[in-house]
Amino acid sequence: MSAIHQRGRANKRRRQNQSTKSRAAGFQASTSNEKRLLYQTVQNSKLGNDRGTRGGANIDVPFGPTFYPTIEDMEGSPLDYIEKIRPTAQRYGICKIVPPKAWKEKDFFAAKMEIPQKFSTKLQYLHRIQEGVSFGDGEEYNPGSYLRYASEFTKDYKNKEYPDHDLIVQREMENNKIRNGEKQEASNVKTDGNALGSNAIAGNGDSKSDSRRRFIPENLEQDYWDLVENRNREFGVEYGNDVDTHDFGSGFPLSERGRSVYGTFDQEKAKLPDPKFGSEDFYKETWWNLNNIPWTPDSVLRHIKVGINGINVPWMYYGALFTTFCWHNEDNYLYSINYHHKGAPKQWYGVPGTKKDASALEKVFKSYLSMKIRDVPELLHHITTQFSPRLLQNAKVPICKLLQHEGEYVVTFPRAFHGGFSMGPNIGEAVNFATHDWISHGLDANERYRSFRRPAVFSHDRLTFTMAHHLEEQKSYKNCKLLHQEVERVVDEELQLRKKLLALGVRDVTGVIELPPNCLDQLDEDSAEYDDKRLCFACKHICFFSAVACECSRSMVSCLRHSHYMCRCPSERKYLIVWSPEDGLTKTCERVRKRCEVLKSHESLENDTKKGSLAERPNQVDELLKPLPPIAVGVEKDLEDHKNDIIKTDPYVPLPKSIANLKTGVPMNQDLVAAGEVSADEDRDEYMSNRQAVVTLDASDASDDDEIEIIAVIGGKDSPKA
Ligand SMILES: [Zn+2]
Ligand SMILES: [Zn+2]
Repeated sequence: MSAIHQRGRANKRRRQNQSTKSRAAGFQASTSNEKRLLYQTVQNSKLGNDRGTRGGANIDVPFGPTFYPTIEDMEGSPLDYIEKIRPTAQRYGICKIVPPKAWKEKDFFAAKMEIPQKFSTKLQYLHRIQEGVSFGDGEEYNPGSYLRYASEFTKDYKNKEYPDHDLIVQREMENNKIRNGEKQEASNVKTDGNALGSNAIAGNGDSKSDSRRRFIPENLEQDYWDLVENRNREFGVEYGNDVDTHDFGSGFPLSERGRSVYGTFDQEKAKLPDPKFGSEDFYKETWWNLNNIPWTPDSVLRHIKVGINGINVPWMYYGALFTTFCWHNEDNYLYSINYHHKGAPKQWYGVPGTKKDASALEKVFKSYLSMKIRDVPELLHHITTQFSPRLLQNAKVPICKLLQHEGEYVVTFPRAFHGGFSMGPNIGEAVNFATHDWISHGLDANERYRSFRRPAVFSHDRLTFTMAHHLEEQKSYKNCKLLHQEVERVVDEELQLRKKLLALGVRDVTGVIELPPNCLDQLDEDSAEYDDKRLCFACKHICFFSAVACECSRSMVSCLRHSHYMCRCPSERKYLIVWSPEDGLTKTCERVRKRCEVLKSHESLENDTKKGSLAERPNQVDELLKPLPPIAVGVEKDLEDHKNDIIKTDPYVPLPKSIANLKTGVPMNQDLVAAGEVSADEDRDEYMSNRQAVVTLDASDASDDDEIEIIAVIGGKDSPKA
């Protein structure tokens, strides 16, 4: 029944209301489409064959930007930081944020690995992933057993497709040693043409052909799209997506100062100043902890006091080689932030979240599936269709990519489509958030949902009005004005429609029926529960301010836009249920307008005192009109930092506390000697990944890269299986 991977309301549910009902509905709705889509894909595959026989042209997508916050940035609010980088980052749709070297979150990784509970997985067939059909169910795992599966799966592929990888790496290392010994050609390293992001180390005559035989991101990216586009090889992999952090734990240690849904509240600790950067408590309390980010001061979602999985409570993602997150944008066009805890890198693709670019992507999708336009967003909501960046590039849709490594964040901007896949066993975590600039996107999303009869995860009107009742949080004129525009728009429409309906003879029963009032201070469990019961029968809009009902039905309501479709009864049998009386609405409008005025005069005063900022304004606009640089900001440093990376294929096994506490100064060479003594497969895996973790702890301090590489090579080559 839950055969569909639907990230809409079906999955993103408040905890106490895990609904199988809406999952089932989603599934049924899509099955009728499936046959048609399947047929379509067969047609498309005929068109696509010539592409297949060419052996897959190179995927050549430029990298998106990477940003490097300072320790000070990491001590502050991630929302402030993202606001700072937004002018540039938003133009790409996605960006990568790399914490400073001193960020040691992984030393405090908190998710439970070996527990009796199991999560379900999705079985993804890459050769059928362009068809838009639902994913089947895979096996069930706990995090530990999933990672062992993922490791074996990835190693199998590596051994089959890249049997020479370890040999090449070893030979190269020996060459390097010789070269290092002779202390020469330090400048010669990056002369090779394929140096962009490749692990290739120049100096070997045959490095180009070697390069294709290496288990490296460039090759895996090519392999992935060959599998997806050529469809001539069966490839199935199980993906542990949307794993509940309540049952399986977040990767981040939880707050003890009430900053997250599942954390605790220690009154004594809450009185203390924020913990110092780098301490264990810091990782619990930092707003960069994904459990905390929705509750950051200034976060719009802070007012949603009910946990909604995947929206303000993070989800975990357990991946393996080529596990896929298909093209989608976020519910309600929210921002998303994704953290890579452990393991092999994750490949991302993104498209800017402008109306133009997002629509262009949908158009590509539509023409690829040759479907009626109204079906497309519905299909995109199901998130079970992947398609190649090439299709987007052909249609001149701007697209960029990112390779997300351990300890790195990826942020997606409102409405920005994104998709991608993993390159081996890994652990990720993700959550949504919203800043005040999000509000206009929220409105667009809301209108769109109504046009497709898709229930929103939370009421946009309620959130807007809740914001309007917390005006002390509005700090900038620009954002407050956006809020004012939205409140005004909502109220104008509401009052006009009320007038129109009453003129038609619909009765106002406000004085007759007593209704529980809308609680505007927050969006909590009760109010969300209440909202669920007043969905417009036609557009599924949450009737927040008022609704129309009819004597002919006890349960059906409609929004003010759709009452005439509800039944054939004359207007006189219908009545208006009002939760928010007119004067309350207009007063709220007025309050927001006044707040705007205060902020405006405040800001112009500030501008008068420091003349520079007025002059800066036009520049900022110029910045947005400027063509993007040929290479995005941060890309070169990022590639340089990871050019010698080796893709981790071992499962992650938590360190015993005693080792973890050593932190630095673990004698690596002793470990190397001991490695030869381990023989049993399972023990070895465990041993290797423990050791790898120990090495990783040291990695930032180690000046000699060779030592780290040696360890990784032994892990692959000496494996009894190879
Ligand atoms: Zn409606
Ligand atoms: Zn009726």
